[in-house]
Amino acid sequence: MAARDGKAFIDGLKDAREVWYNGERVDDVTTFREFEPSVKTLASLYDMQHDPDHRDVLTVESPEIGEVVSRSFQAPRTRGDLRLHREAYIKWAEATCGMMGRSPDFLNAMMTALAAKRSFFAEFSEERADALVNYHRYLAKNDLFMTHALIDPQLDKSKLRHQQRDPDIPLRVVDKNTDGLIVRGVKRIATAAPYADELFVWPFPPTFQPGEEPYANVFAIPMNTPGLKTICRASYANHGNRADFPLSSRFDEMDATVVFDNVLVPWDRVFLHEDIHLLNRMYKDTRMREMTAHQTNARLEVKLGFLYAVAVKMAEAAGIENRPDIMEKLGEAAVQVEVIRSTTRSAEEQATVDPENGVLYPDLIALQAGRALGPVYYPALLDLIKLLGGGGLVQLPVTMDEFESPIGADLEKFLRGADMSGLDKTKLMKLAWDLCGSEFGARHELYEKNYAGERRALMMGIHREYSRKQHFADHLDNFLGQS
Ligand SMILES: Cc1cc2nc3c(=O)[nH]c(=O)nc-3n(C[C@H](O)[C@H](O)[C@H](O)COP(=O)(O)OP(=O)(O)OC[C@H]3O[C@@H](n4cnc5c(N)ncnc54)[C@H](O)[C@@H]3O)c2cc1C
Repeated sequence: MAARDGKAFIDGLKDAREVWYNGERVDDVTTFREFEPSVKTLASLYDMQHDPDHRDVLTVESPEIGEVVSRSFQAPRTRGDLRLHREAYIKWAEATCGMMGRSPDFLNAMMTALAAKRSFFAEFSEERADALVNYHRYLAKNDLFMTHALIDPQLDKSKLRHQQRDPDIPLRVVDKNTDGLIVRGVKRIATAAPYADELFVWPFPPTFQPGEEPYANVFAIPMNTPGLKTICRASYANHGNRADFPLSSRFDEMDATVVFDNVLVPWDRVFLHEDIHLLNRMYKDTRMREMTAHQTNARLEVKLGFLYAVAVKMAEAAGIENRPDIMEKLGEAAVQVEVIRSTTRSAEEQATVDPENGVLYPDLIALQAGRALGPVYYPALLDLIKLLGGGGLVQLPVTMDEFESPIGADLEKFLRGADMSGLDKTKLMKLAWDLCGSEFGARHELYEKNYAGERRALMMGIHREYSRKQHFADHLDNFLGQS
């Protein structure tokens, strides 16, 4: 069985990787205080692959790999496959309330999409295409956890990469030899990088211009590669009693910058290099968007549903769930959850087979609608939670333990809800604060607004590519022709 369990995942992270936190090198990422909660949560996801209640959805016998693999490593070929992919995404998302945006299935889906489009990489060379397909097989067989780093450092936006004051900062090829490429520079933001097995690198957004060839590379390396440094942001993980920080105590995914100090990338891990034309086409032509957005929208459905349920419970706690203005707001929230939920089902229903590889692709525009609306709906739901909570979101005991202290009876009296004990309402409010007021919560709002890239670029792309534009235009022309 290739699909790993949690222990195998944790054991695999005990290596010589160079991870830096607050100016100090981390010895063991699996036991480091700031990463441990997240590592444990990820391990529990891998354990689910072996749980009889979940394994039939989360894993699949792969004819190509010849073993049982994590389902997201298998390209969908039937509507049933697509449904099971969604169910697997949802199962893992439910285990984290949708709070782990970069659970392993996200990059698994991306790599599966790329391997299914071998022909794209073969346009560069047969060797690079073989390298990619073999690498995907290696990932699936070993069930490795991957992160990715696409974005350059925020330098001078008016200049191209090679025109920056220090052209060595954006990641580029500085040399090549019989072993591979030598790369130097910086990429960000690699979520979960400190405790990932592998790092996938390709540049985004795909707007390369002549002169930027050394920067146009696609490759993957292990996180313990010599010369690779992972530099972390401040942790938003809260320690202590879980009831005080129900989400940030277990789901904070570390974000990191990765620095390449003359790193050797072996040829069998180079999938494209120094080709601005292919790079500019890669995001669209490999059809990775269809596969990854199926995962991200399924996860978002779970996350929005979670926020919605918190809002409903807060309204009940305040005894205002039947007030017309609140009912209207909760109705709108339900619609938002439902719209995102519909995008995956609609995409599956309208899926089409790509004759080139026989893969069944969920409908892109149905999924893009979800990616476009997520950055609007998520902050709207947070606003609703803030509206319902008011000052009650901050007027909370330091810890839930205070209910057991000499002032417990007072707390119980003034913190109680309409039909809810003070203890239960405080638990709910602490959860709401973790969602909308903590550093963890702020990072999640930023994540939902940014993870799919800049929203304006997404909307421009949707306008450019809208697949049903012609259909509606023809209808209009017909109508006008009749009058
Ligand atoms: C929490 C979090 C997790 C993430 N995880 C990952 C990950 O795992 N892997 C990964 O690769 N990426 C990840 N990202 C990165 C994400 O894809 C980018 O943040 C996003 O694409 C925006 O890019 P940026 O941060 O460089 O912002 P910028 O592009 O610098 O945008 C900042 C502002 O500058 C404006 N701007 C941008 N370009 C121009 C221009 N040319 N002229 C004028 N204005 C401009 C934008 O409109 C925006 O208002 C993550 C981001 C966040 C916030």
